[in-house]
Amino acid sequence: MAGLHATEAASKSGARPLVITSSWDTAGYLAWGPSLSVKGGPGGLNQKILRKALFYEGELNGRTILIDGYKFQGYWRESLERQAGIRIFQDTCEDVTREKSFWKVRTMWGKIYFGKTLIIATGTFLGGRVEIGSEEFAGGRPGESGSARLEKALRVLGSEFYLTKEEAGPIIGVDGIEWGKLGTVDEALGFCWTETSDKKRVYIEPIDRGGKEFYLRLPGGQTRKSASLNLLPGLKKAQTVRPAYTVFYQAIGQDQLRETQESKFADGLFFAGRVNGAQNYAESALQGSRAGCGAAKKVSRET
Ligand SMILES: Cc1cc2nc3c(=O)[nH]c(=O)nc-3n(C[C@H](O)[C@H](O)[C@H](O)COP(=O)(O)OP(=O)(O)OC[C@H]3O[C@@H](n4cnc5c(N)ncnc54)[C@H](O)[C@@H]3O)c2cc1C
Repeated sequence: MAGLHATEAASKSGARPLVITSSWDTAGYLAWGPSLSVKGGPGGLNQKILRKALFYEGELNGRTILIDGYKFQGYWRESLERQAGIRIFQDTCEDVTREKSFWKVRTMWGKIYFGKTLIIATGTFLGGRVEIGSEEFAGGRPGESGSARLEKALRVLGSEFYLTKEEAGPIIGVDGIEWGKLGTVDEALGFCWTETSDKKRVYIEPIDRGGKEFYLRLPGGQTRKSASLNLLPGLKKAQTVRPAYTVFYQAIGQDQLRETQESKFADGLFFAGRVNGAQNYAESALQGSRAGCGAAKKVSRET
């Protein structure tokens, strides 16, 4: 997500950004479901895309909107693909070194790319380990490999990381939901809630307008208890489409970065988004935009 914002901002600032992403198909994927508090996010294209993908706007723990996650991803990809000067490669960055005044990136496929500035926006992937129930495996998200080699290369350059984690609730299918046993937020959308035995609300948020899949926003600390999903009123027969998971990964502290998101230890190396501990969508988006502008300005000053 931060990478998309960085690309947009850099391009708008006159640079010719080159994007290397392990998967362009999953770029902009909202791991946690489509409910966003959008206060404070960047304007421009970001707001346009959020509006286009929006299907619910209301009060729920503050001002919250629901967007169609699949459309949202599609609009972002389409917008960046259409902009002249943006090049996109699907590959995984494994090594980063400095060569004279350039950053040299080597990928999993053995390709080499050079750039005057480099933005790392790897989300929860650096050294990532995913835990689902009692299973644990390397990965940045379920089904996507983590970035262990890149983490090592960044440490060599002086990055100091700390271990952190993020939790995502499960996604369930529409079949088996007993609607009559649920509280309602918006009947037409099937936006409902149930509650745990200790009376904490669990929101059941539609992921798209079609209403086939729902994200379960579990109260804090409940994610790993997803095995007990079928004990929740109204969900006894529900089918899990994607299980709840916890991802442990390496993040860099803000104390190692300048206001522009550029690192203090390596000239022209920027970090943005979850890798910098961003807590939510708006913060990730803003960090991405700041890094994109900062990196582009630096290039234009040096050329
Ligand atoms: C489980 C979870 C729950 C969350 N819950 C909420 C919430 O409820 N509300 C909210 O507002 N925000 C939530 N967030 C916030 C989230 O931090 C941001 O909104 C945003 O998704 C993070 O964007 P990002 O760019 O940092 O990472 P991502 O969007 O994950 O992007 C990282 C990208 O980097 C790519 N990548 C990784 N390593 C490499 C490599 N070596 N080479 C090439 N490409 C690579 C990946 O393929 C991926 O596309 C949650 C995040 C997570 C992970």
